[in-house]
Amino acid sequence: MTCTFFLCDRICAGCNYEIGHGRFLSCMGAVWHPECFRCHACNQPIADYEFSMSGNYPYHKTCYKEHYHPKCDVCQHFIPTNASGLIEYRAHPFWAQKYCPFHEHDGTPRCCSCERMEPRETSYAALNDGRKLCLECLDSSIMDTSECQPLYRDIQAFYESINMKVEQIIPLLLVERQALNEAMDGERNGHYHMPETRGLCLSEEQTISTVLRRPKMGMGSRVPDMRTEPYKLTRRCEVTAILILYGLPRLLTGSILAHEMMHAWLRLQGYRTLSQDVEEGICQVLAHMWLRTQISLISGKNTPSSSSATSSRQEKRSPFDKKLAEFFKHQIESDMSPVYGNGFRAGNQAVLKYGLPSTLEHIRLTGSFPF
Ligand SMILES: [Zn+2]
Ligand SMILES: [Zn+2]
Ligand SMILES: [Zn+2]
Ligand SMILES: [Zn+2]
Ligand SMILES: [Zn+2]
Repeated sequence: MTCTFFLCDRICAGCNYEIGHGRFLSCMGAVWHPECFRCHACNQPIADYEFSMSGNYPYHKTCYKEHYHPKCDVCQHFIPTNASGLIEYRAHPFWAQKYCPFHEHDGTPRCCSCERMEPRETSYAALNDGRKLCLECLDSSIMDTSECQPLYRDIQAFYESINMKVEQIIPLLLVERQALNEAMDGERNGHYHMPETRGLCLSEEQTISTVLRRPKMGMGSRVPDMRTEPYKLTRRCEVTAILILYGLPRLLTGSILAHEMMHAWLRLQGYRTLSQDVEEGICQVLAHMWLRTQISLISGKNTPSSSSATSSRQEKRSPFDKKLAEFFKHQIESDMSPVYGNGFRAGNQAVLKYGLPSTLEHIRLTGSFPF
């Protein structure tokens, strides 16, 4: 009797009915009909001896792995465990792209613009000078000097809108990496530069190899018919030209251009030679300011652009463009270098506190940021 009573009292934790006399499972501190003990992921009964637990739910071991074991965004495999049995992966701080640590050494290309690693199943576009570009960055990339002119007018309008109009006509040329490095060597007053220089404000008379013809883009292959032409710079003022690396997305090209324009502005206004952190810092502040105007423009605040001569690209802004603008802004803010990073943070703080005109006036008089 007691025995029968005991059996009748057994309730399946899955369906809440009596177990009865059939087979049953005893696990997780309860009893179950075999068909009631189900995987929280696929909802099929778990007949295996071993199963996985997460948050008080049972899983098939394979289902658990599928759901909780991180997969590499580059090779699509499960990220392997390291020598201590832990899953160790790298993740991009902004994009949250996670990948096996060894991809950092196995030649996996990164996009030269957004830094994301090339996933195995997609193929990035290869630029003539060895750089690779992801397809989303490629989508808004500016490929040659003439294509960049509408953006140049945007940047000029931006400077005008903050009462810093650059009156002089400075040629803007898009160049390959090699040409940029050569031009940098040709400058007498070598400025401090980032490991990968993407823009340059020139003062010397040089002959620059400029990208003039839009290359036909072969997906994932090298660009076949890239044209460059020599361009002889002549000195009309303190600044002979602004050079920018070709092939970068509009938003990155624009922020580099805003930075280089500030170098030009300082020289044309007769500022003394500034310490590197002050000079690069204030140039980064202007690049950052321009990116902020672009973010609010993309966010659809519907502020009509001040210049009517804006590029046609402006109309087809994608959600990715906003993310990209935020990434470039984040890059400026989180730059750890003493010149660009600390320079930007000091400059930005000064501008927030005193405004741009007073900060510039202080720099002109003292060569340093106001505190
Ligand atoms: Zn049941
Ligand atoms: Zn399952
Ligand atoms: Zn991997
Ligand atoms: Zn990219
Ligand atoms: Zn600079």
